[in-house]
Amino acid sequence: MFADLHLHTAFSDGTYSPEELTGHAARHGFACVALTDHDTVEGCERMARACREANVEFLPASELTAEYRGTELHVIGYALDVNHPKLLSEMRRYQDVRQNRIKEMVERLNRMNVPLQEETVTAIANCKSPGRPHIARALIQIKVCKSLDEAFERFLKKGRPAWVPKFKVSADEAISLIHEAGGLAVFAHPGLVHHDSLIPDLVEAGLDGIECYHTKHPTTTVEHYREMAEEHDLLVTGGSDCHGMNKGQPLIGTIKLPYQHVEQLKERLPEDNPLRRPFVRNEAI
Ligand code: AMP
Ligand code: ZN
Ligand code: FE
Ligand code: FE
Repeated sequence: MFADLHLHTAFSDGTYSPEELTGHAARHGFACVALTDHDTVEGCERMARACREANVEFLPASELTAEYRGTELHVIGYALDVNHPKLLSEMRRYQDVRQNRIKEMVERLNRMNVPLQEETVTAIANCKSPGRPHIARALIQIKVCKSLDEAFERFLKKGRPAWVPKFKVSADEAISLIHEAGGLAVFAHPGLVHHDSLIPDLVEAGLDGIECYHTKHPTTTVEHYREMAEEHDLLVTGGSDCHGMNKGQPLIGTIKLPYQHVEQLKERLPEDNPLRRPFVRNEAI
């Protein structure tokens, strides 16, 4: 039994609907999946329903963009109460920041004589939690760029001309918010952040786990973070970070996290979290 605990839908910067994504998960035979859209849990209700119908265990989650001493890092909150009032109000704040940032990035592009209209981006994004990949897709649509990579390299990545810094919640606050909403906090793809020295501080702030398995983690990186997880008594998680079609093939299916890691995660949930209960498969389906 395997899980993929890092997936995105069109409720943030993925391209699949929750139902399409669940279909892929079921075809790959996953026993459990988590939806980790950026700064939103909006897709979780539909994904939970689709998973129930497909006999796949589902963990509602979200990948929060946070910051620790000037370094951007992503913290995934797993098994969240998706109706938690403070979680929802904080996420609305992060979404406002994202929406305003899109406007500013389009303005910057326009000042460079790139004729991109905000409406083109919002039509592609069509969600409350837009991000740079939506601008990248719009730049491809108006034929200014040929690929997402080109859009990021020329305009969107940190330090490039259309890049706009973004307010980010501090990692400590993100971890606390996740705990308040009943969930567990996991440092996403640390291998892309290159700042292992902050892990002990995150542990001090209450971090529960490290995403050891990730599409962009080579085997040596996986081993390295498994050792760190053991050293700090952290959960081991992993996922594909699938955003939809990727160079002809979606990433879902490339990471198969052994289900024992899901069991360990559930055991660490607070007693009153209903997701602690074992998942009962409907054998009739
Ligand atoms: P944002 O949330 O607006 O800061 O955008 C970050 C997202 O952009 C990440 O979730 C990545 O999936 C995506 N991203 C970053 N670099 C690239 C790239 N070179 N090509 C495609 N997507 C990227
Ligand atoms: Zn993304
Ligand atoms: Fe991420
Ligand atoms: Fe992600």
